[in-house]
Amino acid sequence: MSSKKLLIVDDEIGFARFVEGVAEDLEFDISLTCDPTEFGALYSNNIDIIVLDLFMPDTDGIELLRFLSDNNSTASVVLMSGKDVGVLHSAQELATEHGITVLGTLQKPFRAHELKNVLLQYTPSSPAPVGSTDNNEMPSLNEFRQAIKQEELFMCYQPQIAIASREVVGVEALVRWKHPTKGIIPPNYFIPLAEKNELIADVTYYSVRTAIRQQGLWRKKGKNLRVSINMSPKVLDDLDMPEKMSICSTEMGADIAKIMIEVTETVIMSDVARYMDILARMRMKGFGLSIDDFGTGYSSLQQLVRVPFTELKIDQAFIRKLTTDKECHTITRISILLAHELGMSVVAEGIETESEWNVLTELGCDEGQGFWMGKPMPAEEVETWIASWSSG
Ligand code: C2E
Ligand code: MG
Ligand code: MG
Repeated sequence: MSSKKLLIVDDEIGFARFVEGVAEDLEFDISLTCDPTEFGALYSNNIDIIVLDLFMPDTDGIELLRFLSDNNSTASVVLMSGKDVGVLHSAQELATEHGITVLGTLQKPFRAHELKNVLLQYTPSSPAPVGSTDNNEMPSLNEFRQAIKQEELFMCYQPQIAIASREVVGVEALVRWKHPTKGIIPPNYFIPLAEKNELIADVTYYSVRTAIRQQGLWRKKGKNLRVSINMSPKVLDDLDMPEKMSICSTEMGADIAKIMIEVTETVIMSDVARYMDILARMRMKGFGLSIDDFGTGYSSLQQLVRVPFTELKIDQAFIRKLTTDKECHTITRISILLAHELGMSVVAEGIETESEWNVLTELGCDEGQGFWMGKPMPAEEVETWIASWSSG
């Protein structure tokens, strides 16, 4: 088996040799340069890992990251710097945004075992780009068209829990596709497909009707759970949507005050004026309005105040790093303060551990949703799940 190729770029020769020594122990095939201007000459597309110093004379590490991105490099990088961790963190974010895999960041000076641990993270299989659909495993558009007609879509519901009281207050309705041979297909695959091919209205009407009917059914059984529904931007252009949803709720015996419409932050902020009309009218009919995946878009305070949101959902990316990354902790804390100041309730999404739950309790977050408490499940399982959660 040919050994993995590693390139070291650091203007300090002593440090470059130290990195080389560690990499040799791990049997890498190493090239090394202390002159960043040589980088272009040494770089080739079959390099697996690049260990990069961010601060060098003439060329800095950021420029080299841009070079890698421009060359569609599949190499993973390890970023090093003698400056503060904030710089490393920003460089890491930048690299990730450019589609570069960052194996780890190391603040100089570091120890051999720290570098070793980072290098051992390397796995050669570079994942397929997100959203690529030339995957033979994935069903085709035609199959999806059929799926809608043949009622292969179904809804799952993930519990949302009040953090202080541990009471189950609501569920988020999440659509699934049960493919006859390929199993359960996730929405991240078929929602974009539906949006591109004028099928999103069909999917949305299915989700909306099913979720509203389910709210009505639970309500009749004396469990007036709040049900959150994801709304694609494509259907927010349908000016009759508030009226249709309101009529549907009355027909199904659902409690409008317990229906929450979720719209992602990126979508809303892309064109606030356009969506304002329909969202304001939804609110006037009595539906709740939730801003989903908060923190991934770029809302200005002014925009946030203008849209009558009642709930803010902190994106999972921040919760995932809540206990390990100071910046994510800060963003979460400030988002909670901001939401409360604006009179919104806050849901943290993607809670996977008890320690995340504990930090969110300290931060005064209102509600949580995540695998640690409960995964999305079919409607029939929700009541049993609530009973076991409440007794646990
Ligand atoms: P979303 O609205 O942000 O939904 C939350 C997603 O996070 C769900 O994925 C859920 O299963 C997942 N999740 C929840 N807790 C955890 C956790 O602790 N760890 C991890 N790793 N994941 C967690 P799902 O069901 O695959 O949905 C993905 C996205 O698809 C949703 O993101 C939403 O934007 C969209 N979507 C789902 N259902 C519908 C629908 O009926 N209509 C529309 N338009 N979009 C939908
Ligand atoms: Mg959502
Ligand atoms: Mg979300």
